[in-house]
Amino acid sequence: MGFLMQYTDKVLKHFTNSRNIGEILDADGVGNVGSPDCGDTLRVWIKVADEHLVDIKYKVFGCPAAVACCSMMIELAMGKHIDEAAELTDDQVAAALGGLPEQKYHCSNLAASGLYDAIMSYALKSHRQDKIVSLSVLVENTAIEGFSSEHGLSFWIEYGGKHILFDTGQSDLVAQNAKKLKVDLSQTDAIILSHGHYDHTGGLKAVLDEAPDAMIYLHPDAPKVRYSRKPPKPPRQISMPQACCQALSDAVPKGKVVYTPQPHRIYPGVMVTGAIPRITEYEDTGGAFYDDPEGTLADEIADDQALLIETPQGLVIILGCAHSGVVNTLHYAAKLSGQKRIYAVIGGMHLLNASAGRIEKTIEALKDYGVQKVAPCHCTGAETVEKIKTTFPEQYLACSAGTHIPL
Ligand SMILES: [Zn+2]
Ligand SMILES: [Zn+2]
Ligand SMILES: [Zn+2]
Repeated sequence: MGFLMQYTDKVLKHFTNSRNIGEILDADGVGNVGSPDCGDTLRVWIKVADEHLVDIKYKVFGCPAAVACCSMMIELAMGKHIDEAAELTDDQVAAALGGLPEQKYHCSNLAASGLYDAIMSYALKSHRQDKIVSLSVLVENTAIEGFSSEHGLSFWIEYGGKHILFDTGQSDLVAQNAKKLKVDLSQTDAIILSHGHYDHTGGLKAVLDEAPDAMIYLHPDAPKVRYSRKPPKPPRQISMPQACCQALSDAVPKGKVVYTPQPHRIYPGVMVTGAIPRITEYEDTGGAFYDDPEGTLADEIADDQALLIETPQGLVIILGCAHSGVVNTLHYAAKLSGQKRIYAVIGGMHLLNASAGRIEKTIEALKDYGVQKVAPCHCTGAETVEKIKTTFPEQYLACSAGTHIPL
C-alpha cells in the first residue's frame, strides 16, 4: 500500500467512496477491458434511454487507482449522450483525478476505455428497427449498360434517414454514375473511406465539391503515401491522390473529419470497425504493398476498415478491399455486434492472389456465419467470385455499377 502515499486526495476520495460498483442485469451494453501487463481487468455495464447514459456500473479487479478511475469516469459520463460519453478518454479521467502516479498510469487507467467498449457494444444491437432503404453501386470494376466502370468501388446507402457514401471510386466517375442513378450526392451526410488506396478515395474531391458539409470518416493512416510493387514493373504509388488529400485537409478545420483508429458509431445502427485485428494465420493484405518505393517497409494497411449496419434482417457488412482479411473482418464484426450470424457481406474481398486454401477457408467462414446475401466484387478475383456463386447460388448477388442491391 506504499503507493497510497503518491495518490492525490481526489484519487483517495474516489477510492474510499467509490461510486456505482456492481452489475446491471438487463444492461444495454457491456464493456470488457484488461491490462495485459499487470492483470487489472474491468467490466462496465450501461443502461441507455433516449441515447443517454442513465446508469453505469462496473466491477474492477485492480489497485486503488483503477477503482478511483472508474468512480471518476462515472462522475464524468453519467447522464451524457452516448456519443459525447464515447469521446471521454483515459487521459481526461486521470486529469480529473489530479493525475496518477507514473507507474499506475497505464495499468490502472482503463475506465474510459471500458465505457467506450460498452457503448460500442450497445451501438449496433439497439437499432434493428431501421431498414436499408437503398444500397446502390456507384462505382465498380464492371457496369451494367448505360453506366461506366473503373477499377474502384463506391456504394450509396440510405438508412435511418441518412445518406451514406462508402468509398468514392478513383475519379469523378462517382458523380457521373450518381446522376444517372438519380442519386443526389449533395445530400451526402457521411463519407466512409474503407482505406486510403486511390481506387477508393480518388473521387473524394468530386464528392466534396457537391457535398461540402458531409462528415468524413477514415483511419488516421489512410492518407499516407504508399506503393505497390510488381517487378519488373516500376513501383507504383497507390496513395490517395494529392487533390483529395488537400480536400481532406481543408475539411479538418471545419470539424468535418473524424479519424477512426478504433470502432466508431456513426449513426444509430451504423458503425465503422476502425482497425481490424489480424487473427487468422492464413490471411494477409493480399498484395505487394509497401510504404516505400524500394519495398523495404511492408504496408500492413492498418487503415482498412469495414462498415457495419444493423437491419431487421440482421447485420450487413460492407467491405472496401478487406485487406485485413475477410475472415478477420467477419470475426471482428461478430464481436462488435455481439451476433453469431451475419446477414449480408458486400464489397471487395481482395482474393485475387490468394491460395486455394485461403479461399476455401473464406467460403467456410461465410457458411459458418450463415450469410444470406453475398455480393463479392471489385478486387475479389473472377475465379473466387465464380466459386462463391456456385457455393451460394441462392445468396449470391451481382454488384456492378448502376445496380441496386436488394437486401
Ligand atoms: Zn486496397
Ligand atoms: Zn482490393
Ligand atoms: Zn480496391
